[in-house]
Amino acid sequence: MFNKSVLQTLCVVLLPAALIITGACGEKAGGLREQADAPLASQPAASADKNPRTGDASAISASFSKPEPERTPVLTKKAPQHTLSDIDVLIDVGHGGIDGGAVHGGLLEKDINLAIARQTYTALTQQGYRVVLNRDKDYALSDDNKWLNTRSRHIRDLAQRMQMANDIKPKILISLHVNSALNRSKKGPIVLHQNNPGSLLLATQLQEHLNSTTRTSFMPMVGKTYYLLKRTKCPSVIIEVGFITNVEDRTRMTDPTGQRQIAHGIRDGVTSYLTQSGTLPSTQKSHDSEH
Ligand SMILES: [Zn+2]
Repeated sequence: MFNKSVLQTLCVVLLPAALIITGACGEKAGGLREQADAPLASQPAASADKNPRTGDASAISASFSKPEPERTPVLTKKAPQHTLSDIDVLIDVGHGGIDGGAVHGGLLEKDINLAIARQTYTALTQQGYRVVLNRDKDYALSDDNKWLNTRSRHIRDLAQRMQMANDIKPKILISLHVNSALNRSKKGPIVLHQNNPGSLLLATQLQEHLNSTTRTSFMPMVGKTYYLLKRTKCPSVIIEVGFITNVEDRTRMTDPTGQRQIAHGIRDGVTSYLTQSGTLPSTQKSHDSEH
């Protein structure tokens, strides 16, 4: 269902071959642990970041974007029209704004999620996939939810992310989060999936490639209790990319090289999934896998 109230709050930044949508969604469903909502006023959404900008002419012309001024129709070569249904991957960037997620010292999960999301966005778009980030700055997506009448910022946040996913209808949704544990030796990426074959296949491919990146051997797990996983209609997974409480994971997740390795693991997992599910887009480019 197309939820106008949600999409009215969305803005699109068009970049070559991909999209960043700012101004919707927010969630905490991803974490293995949930934190209480901070009873603080939400930060204002980063409105300056939400202005649509036109980009490369070859970029996707999404239904959110401003129409281009009409040109003299001499030899009209109509650009291919894309809609949001053309989106391959929606990256749900966990937390944001007043919701920092997991914490270790001064390090906040929301910042790790955003850094890895950006790297993943780059890795996927370089491959030719159409990708949407649901936040590209530090703000709470719950601020954009004016349509759900609840006092819970947390639920507004989750609902906004869910509604966005269901409106955009990407092929897959990947929600990025960071784990935390009292036991500081716990480490490694864990992929949580829905209880359906598509999500399981996606999670298996992602877990395999992330295991290879981090030299771990985890199996993906079903995430029955997670808001997003229960409510999104496309194959969706939550990736807990590592433990903020483990020094090795923390180093990898905060170092640009380590973040890039994680992003490449995700990219390769996505490619495996799209190949095996027969949904590889024609825009997909070949690449030399680098780790
Ligand atoms: Zn989280």
